[in-house]
Amino acid sequence: MDLSSPVEYLKGVGPARADLLKKELGVFTFNDLLHLYPYRYIDKTQFHKIKDLTPESSDVQLRGVMRRLTTHGEGRKQRLVGKLRDDTGAIELIWFRGVFYVQRALEVGKEYVVFGKINDFNGKLSIPHPEVEEVKAENTTAAETFAPVYPGTEKLRQRKFDAKAHRKIVETLFLSLTLADIPENLPDALMEKLKLPPRWEALRAIHFPKNEYQLHQAKRRLKFEELFFLQLRLLQLKSRRKDAVRGFVFEKVGDNFMRFFNEKIPFELTGAQKRVIKEIRSDLGSGIHMNRLLQGDVGAGKTMVGLMCMLLAIDNGFQAVMVAPTQILAQQHFDGIRRDLEGLDIEVEFLTGSIKGKKRKALLERLASGEIKILVGTHAVFEDPVVFKNLGLAITDEQHRFGVKQRAKLWKKNKPNPPHVLVMTATPIPRTLAMTLYGDLDVSVIDELPPGRKPVTTVHRNDNHRQRVFGFMKEEIAKGRQVYVVYPLIEESETLDLKNLEEGYEALSREFPQPDYQISVVHGKMKPDDKEFEMQRFVKGETQIMIATTVIEVGVNVPNASVMVIEESQRFGLSQLHQLRGRVGRGAEQSFCILMTGFKLSKEGRERINTMTSSNDGFVISEADLRLRGPGNIEGTQQSGVLNLRIADLARDGRILQTARGIAQQILNEDAKLELPKHARLKAYMGVMEEKIKGWSRIS
Ligand code: ADP
Ligand code: MG
Repeated sequence: MDLSSPVEYLKGVGPARADLLKKELGVFTFNDLLHLYPYRYIDKTQFHKIKDLTPESSDVQLRGVMRRLTTHGEGRKQRLVGKLRDDTGAIELIWFRGVFYVQRALEVGKEYVVFGKINDFNGKLSIPHPEVEEVKAENTTAAETFAPVYPGTEKLRQRKFDAKAHRKIVETLFLSLTLADIPENLPDALMEKLKLPPRWEALRAIHFPKNEYQLHQAKRRLKFEELFFLQLRLLQLKSRRKDAVRGFVFEKVGDNFMRFFNEKIPFELTGAQKRVIKEIRSDLGSGIHMNRLLQGDVGAGKTMVGLMCMLLAIDNGFQAVMVAPTQILAQQHFDGIRRDLEGLDIEVEFLTGSIKGKKRKALLERLASGEIKILVGTHAVFEDPVVFKNLGLAITDEQHRFGVKQRAKLWKKNKPNPPHVLVMTATPIPRTLAMTLYGDLDVSVIDELPPGRKPVTTVHRNDNHRQRVFGFMKEEIAKGRQVYVVYPLIEESETLDLKNLEEGYEALSREFPQPDYQISVVHGKMKPDDKEFEMQRFVKGETQIMIATTVIEVGVNVPNASVMVIEESQRFGLSQLHQLRGRVGRGAEQSFCILMTGFKLSKEGRERINTMTSSNDGFVISEADLRLRGPGNIEGTQQSGVLNLRIADLARDGRILQTARGIAQQILNEDAKLELPKHARLKAYMGVMEEKIKGWSRIS
């Protein structure tokens, strides 16, 4: 049987349903149907006894005789109550809808199979809206397997394609499948070692498990398989790239690096920074091409690591570039780097989209001639006319804001050999996510903050506390500190959000009147120059309060700011909140983050707020974010095709992932091209995947 056949050729499907399956569920072929797994199961493998039921019983199946059927109430409040009795006791069945039809279909004195969820009302058990079937020859005994329930959509339900219909076509599919249609793709030894059931068995059991254990095993097997092949692919990409791409060798630690390190560096590097620089240096000195992710919490000091790597490049005769996602951040990196390198003979330049005409032309010429050693800029540096003489190292800061394509462009900024690439994150990424999203990169982690940082005190306040919050802001300002007030700006509701910000500004202007107080306002709708002007007023300390939308989220550094007030904080994601909080606590003073919300909070909103008030650790927060929102909602994952996981869950299956990656690595270490006979199945399956799944060969 050809599993790639269009699903319309399956008995019971036909063109109309096939169309629906494609549009609503993305099911095009037999194979797609086979791999669309149930999200829950109904256990009809046993009949329960009525006397054994407890408030904790969930899905139950009963067999009994209908003893009574009576209607109560009138009109829309009418309900139908049935009494079902078996040889151990009796229970009420209740219908609030379709009373007329149900009543007509049932008969007192007949025997029925009843399935439903137990409801407990003050200790009195009942089953609301049960499924009821008359006992006939085919259902006198319990089912052999659980009944799968598949994800459905409103449209599917409208067209009468319900869970039962879906179940039916999957059953039909399995009737015509044979063992040969689902060849094993894992080596026997591996399955044995991990006690995984064969693929055929697992696929059968994921749709029609006979019991909990079988289901559990099937899930384990399929999750492992999914994560394992993904890791095998990523690690293969990585090792192939290392073989195919020659890396520039930065063998010497030269004058600039040493002079900077001995004379200029404004602080002692942390142990973690030193370790990471060492890791990077060993890449750069080895002739291997570096493609590395640098993770670290907000304020961990990633920029300094980046700068020192750029010095290594320069000392070895190369140019380096650092790209940031916003003008403001790029400007800040540029200013900082120029200040740090003062007195060293290194040309540093700045390029953004707003640098035009003669100035731009001159800059591009100096870049192409190799005169400029370090270029700092925004997206503008990706453009084609920006040509380097010999770019040896490209760094992107806050990489999640750049598209895969843009990053790929950096690779092409030097020919024939690409520059070494270092991508830096804004906040930590959960380990499992990093392993899949950036599984083909090497990873370095700065897991230590510079000494002397006082943890930011975070509190949750609501509108009732507003006056006290204002009072607190006044106290801090009186001590000479500065305050951020941030409003959410989410694109769908941009106008409304802007209105919130404007109203907030008016309220604050009344509470903090001129000339005693000065306020800066920065939001996304402003021209870059105006933004920059307002920003600078705050940076210079001319204003005490900065009202902003999330534009300040990225990177600004004002050590004197000690209070971060986040309005409607429940609307921000955890990593955004954590980043915003990272804007304070940069100086010597105790800093505060005040999370404002309304009274009503969703469960998830409350959990996010609680996470923030109870932890300052970006790694802990990123794990919570993954747990709460799932991988698809975490910044930077949307554009990645690798997260279309069918069954594995990155928030929960960390251990399986770890095992899968470890084994994939072992296998490739022994047999990089999967040429050994014992890896034949792997090789064959990788070939199949390669052809089928788009986006698999993505470069991070
Ligand atoms: P991030 O990792 O969030 O990009 P930055 O590179 O912006 O952090 O660094 C945050 C602040 O910490 C900067 O002001 C930087 O100068 C300072 N810093 C970095 N490393 C150290 C260190 N080892 N000791 C003291 N301060 C440091
Ligand atoms: Mg940074």
